[in-house]
Amino acid sequence: WAKAEGRGRWAVWDPERSAQDIARSALVAGLPAALDRGEFVLRYQPIVSLLEGSTVAVEALVRWQHPELGLVGPDRFIGLAEETGLIVRLGEWVLRQACRDADAWRREFPEAHLVVSVNLAARQAEDPAIVDTVADALARSGLPADLLQLELTESAVMGTAGEPLRSLHRLAGLGVRLAIDDFGTGYSNLAYLRRLPIHCLKLAGPFVEGIRGDGPEAAAGHRDERIVDALVRLAHALELWVTAEAVETEVQAERLRALRCDTGQGRWFGPPVPATEITARLRGEGA
Ligand code: C2E
Ligand code: MG
Ligand code: MG
Ligand code: MG
Repeated sequence: WAKAEGRGRWAVWDPERSAQDIARSALVAGLPAALDRGEFVLRYQPIVSLLEGSTVAVEALVRWQHPELGLVGPDRFIGLAEETGLIVRLGEWVLRQACRDADAWRREFPEAHLVVSVNLAARQAEDPAIVDTVADALARSGLPADLLQLELTESAVMGTAGEPLRSLHRLAGLGVRLAIDDFGTGYSNLAYLRRLPIHCLKLAGPFVEGIRGDGPEAAAGHRDERIVDALVRLAHALELWVTAEAVETEVQAERLRALRCDTGQGRWFGPPVPATEITARLRGEGA
């Protein structure tokens, strides 16, 4: 495993180190060069209006086109990129690429008013430079601010100091939309909802997963369904949009629509796909 440590270095075999640790450090070591070589790619997952059935937004999801491992999912490298700080550069690349792609869709399908939703890691959101970075990405791509949504988790919103990030007001001031990702799975301090300029709540997958219709499994899901019902009401009372994540079945899509959830995302509506497939989808919708 000396190779994983880089050329010209000799490492002593340590039986304590698991194969996973080795694979992990090899991935970490490769991240910066991968960014320079342009090995990261974006997939886009449709976010669909439950009432109209039209695609109203897409979420940008990063993958690593690794020369040996193939397409590597974010769960294997986003955490590492956060720990090493590389997330700031990687996240900026994602943001700029997503804005360029979204502006191309805006030009071809102006009626669609398609929003692009970009994930913002805690470390990115805490960086005071984020506001200028977002403003610059918008200016260079030509994308109007209201077609960009930034997704932050509850813990990212609270920051490491445990106080709602000040930059969120400045970001909202640019005219971009802010969404809370995986809502309901973080610390349930709802106080920030009173003060922060949030536009959308994305209901975490596990609540949606519990919705199972009227079959024998349904009883266990009734609690999840009631939670979704309550969260949709909470969101609407605060004039926020609601997106349900991880919608996998028609039953879930139907129930969510009945509960007045606004939009859905998940395999039922379509998996994350390359930008060209989103273009084809919008063409098909006659936007
Ligand atoms: P997320 O932001 O909550 O993204 C939703 C995840 O759900 C995506 O996983 C998506 O592929 C997955 N998903 C889609 N449809 C379904 C479904 O029907 N059922 C279920 N169970 N899951 C579904 P993915 O692409 O592996 O991304 C995982 C996480 O990595 C994302 O969670 C996000 O937190 C992070 N991530 C991805 N791209 C970026 C990025 O550019 N920057 C940052 N900071 N984080 C990113
Ligand atoms: Mg994945
Ligand atoms: Mg997300
Ligand atoms: Mg999510």
